[in-house]
Amino acid sequence: MSEHTITVAGVAVDTRHWIGDERVASPQTFEDVSPIDGDTIGHISRGTAMEAAAAVAAAKAAFPAWAATSRAQRARILHAIADGVEKRIEELAIVETTDNGALLRSHRRGVMPRVAHNFRFFADWLLQLEHEDFETRGHTNHVSWDPAGPCVLITPWNAPLMLATWKVAPALAAGDTVVLKPAEWSPLTASLLADIAAEAGLPAGVLNVVQGYGSEIGDALTSHPDVRRISFTGSVPTAKRIAESAAANLTPLSLELGGKSPLLVFADADLDLAVDLAVEQYDNAGQVCLAATRLLVEESVAGEFTRLFVEKASALRQGDPRDEATDIGPNIHPRQLEKIDGFVQRAVAAGARAVIGGHRGDGQYYAPTLLTDVDQDAEIVQEEVFGPVLTLQTFADEDEAVRLANGTRFALAATVATGDPERAERVTGQLVAGTVWVNCFFVRDLQAPFGGSRQSGVGREGGTWSFDFYCDLKNTVTAP
Ligand code: NAD
Repeated sequence: MSEHTITVAGVAVDTRHWIGDERVASPQTFEDVSPIDGDTIGHISRGTAMEAAAAVAAAKAAFPAWAATSRAQRARILHAIADGVEKRIEELAIVETTDNGALLRSHRRGVMPRVAHNFRFFADWLLQLEHEDFETRGHTNHVSWDPAGPCVLITPWNAPLMLATWKVAPALAAGDTVVLKPAEWSPLTASLLADIAAEAGLPAGVLNVVQGYGSEIGDALTSHPDVRRISFTGSVPTAKRIAESAAANLTPLSLELGGKSPLLVFADADLDLAVDLAVEQYDNAGQVCLAATRLLVEESVAGEFTRLFVEKASALRQGDPRDEATDIGPNIHPRQLEKIDGFVQRAVAAGARAVIGGHRGDGQYYAPTLLTDVDQDAEIVQEEVFGPVLTLQTFADEDEAVRLANGTRFALAATVATGDPERAERVTGQLVAGTVWVNCFFVRDLQAPFGGSRQSGVGREGGTWSFDFYCDLKNTVTAP
């Protein structure tokens, strides 16, 4: 084992970049700390413009051969990567939990199997990806999905490997090569993915993984002229900086950003179901982009809804995310915790009432919080908190419900709880959101378009939409 390898819950993780076919160390490192106990996990290579240039050069050099590989061969390798993920589910799960504090039980049973599925799904989708030829005055139009080139993929810490592979898998399937930069608060599973991909037979340079701060290596990657696509998941302010860097080269961008999604509860809803959907929004300690953090409840049932909500939310167990019985783990970082508490304290100072929570717990935990008496234009209603903090507003009728729901600069998702299918159709037709759920939440099929409207994002990924983004579509017109 090299001096650059650390052992995380018994799993060996290399702390260096993976560029071409070798591990590369930077002279400087950054500290990776576990949100579970604040302990230092290790020191990770802190990349700069130099490593960015080396990784893009490796991706560029590997591109022609990978792009020329048959679809069947690419699909085989993606399935082999999925096999590697499946073999290491336990290891990936415990490393991810140690690194970002999300529940081990979710990583084991939901997230890591989904990581493997990301590879299998895009491998299979690639094999059936076609566009029917069509004729124009006897000429044939043939549309082909050409690989675009080296892609830079930049991801956040709230679901590190799941979100990274949601981009890596379609990019590789499309015949592109990749430079992946995970978030500096959760760098570890991306390094394991590099090992798994190499073991699966992915040629050198097709997937490169670099580590470091967004302001250092991130900027250098997104402004690089040899990069053909940038796919980013993260916050709105970072997206704006990335868009500026990309503008210099007109590099196409896919942006999956924050949200402030509503859950609309109508009086005709199954109230137990609606309350379950609301309590589910505390998942991952509220660090979910899609979370419906604004509960909008019809006046006539608001009292009963709140009573049931408090009963169910109070039963949630907060604690060590490695414990199977835990429902809510810690928040990612002391800075994030301060941010969350700042939002809550300012809201309370402005007149909001904490029905539950409203304060920090021990260590890096925040008490699940529900705030009422909030105005539509209040900061707590308009801004993404990214913690276990929900607001509750009431509405008198459907028009008001839709107006409140659509009344922020975000439009990632929305959830509607109603027992009336006609109302569901009317309301969903008026909601501005990338995904709308009716009487359910978080049900996702990878063939569906995924993304946000307004400031929640630019573009859509998923199924054919991912290939639209990662490919250069070409129409070849042939004379009769
Ligand atoms: P962030 O924007 O702070 O960081 C995301 C990534 O961008 C990190 O890897 C970071 O190092 C990098 N970065 C920062 N500055 C950069 C720069 N100048 N150039 C290039 N890269 C840079 O976001 P975060 O705090 O890690 O994640 C939380 C945010 O992500 C929330 O807003 C959440 O809603 C959003 N999110 C969206 C989705 C979605 O699918 N829409 C999914 C998960 C999270």
